[in-house]
Amino acid sequence: MHHEDKIDIAYAGGIGGIVILIILILLAVLCLRCCAPKPAEAAETVSAWQGIVVHHSGTNPTHTVSSITRYHTKTKRWEYCGYHFIIDQNGIVYGQGYTEFDGMRPINKAGAHARTGKPRSRNATHTGICLIGNNHFSEIQLKTLRILCMELIAEYPIESIERHHNACPGKGIDVEGLSEGLLK
Ligand SMILES: [Zn+2]
Repeated sequence: MHHEDKIDIAYAGGIGGIVILIILILLAVLCLRCCAPKPAEAAETVSAWQGIVVHHSGTNPTHTVSSITRYHTKTKRWEYCGYHFIIDQNGIVYGQGYTEFDGMRPINKAGAHARTGKPRSRNATHTGICLIGNNHFSEIQLKTLRILCMELIAEYPIESIERHHNACPGKGIDVEGLSEGLLK
């Protein structure tokens, strides 16, 4: 009787050990999947943009292109800056063919700026422009946005200029007016 009890206890201990081991392995796998730095995804090549999505940085007006890019490439581990173009408060356009910068996204690569805000991602169909600032944009910055849109319309079969979502861009950028004026 005593002998059998001992066997049962040993057996129960064995099962418990296996269960704990399986739980530990599962936790380790989960931890590796979540915590390991993800490799940057290679952006797909795009030959013709169908639209433009306008954003704002939502930061103070002196925020820099390099700090936006650093956030995208180092923190988010994207291959390039999420946007194709950034316009600062002095009306300088940063992007390929304009003022070029480290980490800029080539114009023929899908962006990382409009995965949300519409039912479908617009990253591979719409080029992304971001204006630095938050609800206050300079006259030269808005004028430059208009000129950049005109240049993109001349270059690609652009059908629409769109907002990212209701709150992006913020106040002060009339995306609908821009679209009406340049495309209708
Ligand atoms: Zn946005």
